[in-house]
Amino acid sequence: MRLPHRTVQTPVFMPVGTLGTVKAVPQDVLETLGAEIILGNTYHLYLRPGHEAVRRMGGLHKFISWPRAMLTDSGGFQVFSLSQLRKVSDEGVRFRSHLDGSSHFFTPEHSMDVQIALGADIAMAFDECTEYPADRNRAEESLRLTMAWARRSLDHFRAHRDEVVWRDNLGVPQVPGTWGPGNESPTQSLFGIVQGGTYRDLRRESAERLVEMDFDGYAIGGLAVGEGQAAMFAVLDYTAPALPAGRPRYLMGVGTPDDLLGAVARGVDMFDCVMPTRAGRTARAYTSRGVFNIRNARFAADPRPLDPGCACPLCTRHARAYLHHLFRCEEMLGPMLLTWHNIQYYQDFMRGLRDAILQGRLAAHGAAVRARWAEGDDPP
Ligand SMILES: [Zn+2]
Repeated sequence: MRLPHRTVQTPVFMPVGTLGTVKAVPQDVLETLGAEIILGNTYHLYLRPGHEAVRRMGGLHKFISWPRAMLTDSGGFQVFSLSQLRKVSDEGVRFRSHLDGSSHFFTPEHSMDVQIALGADIAMAFDECTEYPADRNRAEESLRLTMAWARRSLDHFRAHRDEVVWRDNLGVPQVPGTWGPGNESPTQSLFGIVQGGTYRDLRRESAERLVEMDFDGYAIGGLAVGEGQAAMFAVLDYTAPALPAGRPRYLMGVGTPDDLLGAVARGVDMFDCVMPTRAGRTARAYTSRGVFNIRNARFAADPRPLDPGCACPLCTRHARAYLHHLFRCEEMLGPMLLTWHNIQYYQDFMRGLRDAILQGRLAAHGAAVRARWAEGDDPP
């Protein structure tokens, strides 16, 4: 993907920087770990520090000092999952902040205005994430709303996309880097979001109507909400083929390395999930030998690196025993180092998938990776 701040190799995993920080990871470390694009959450940044404050600081890239690519979600998911006393109408959603109870009103147009002020390379249409399970009537009604909001998001975005904070008034991007022949996206891009629950015809209808509207890319939303991996893969099996091959496909909020493997095989290009960062803070380590809980007593005297093949700052310098010790003593370095490792693992994992795709051996590569997870850890 040629984006204003970075040409991003796909398939790609985007670490989640909810409040303008990928928790426990400084931006320079994030670059070292190989992250090319990170995510910011519109709902959280709108509440704190506020999108106008970010705009005055020159946009989210400048505010947090992140030179590479960025994506913001629409705020919809958090409005529906975090806020209190929501009132949904065709016009938009009135909700109370989960922080102080203050009242706010989000419409598709307002979500676009906020995302233009934040200035991420990719913005998302405002949608309603259909909950699971949802009966047929509920899924239909939710989809009707999401499709109407997609149209309004796109119209408003197209009318205002040149107001993005990092363009000067001549329309020349003020960011250094990747502009050149073939780069046809000199400003923000907008992705539409396919909904429709687990109903095949609704998913297809949603995809077809969004493709007709001609978004820059397409997300598949409303998954990883409790339906399970088999149901999620089934939705991908019939949704991905309805999306154009030449535009990025983004599976929102997913997932485990095994989820990513299955979804890439089904044609998905982009992912985001709090899993590697949240796991890093709760002592769960993603490795080429599966998932370990580093608090486990068997690591207390283990002198080996966490994952011997890994080039992260943890694995190249410290023993498992030290990481175990840090978590036991609740030292903050423990969650930091393990988060760094987990992000490195996810980035290396995606690079492995990209290489395998280029070499035409994705299936064999996936089988080998799964076999190593199943083998588990070597005895010390
Ligand atoms: Zn590591």
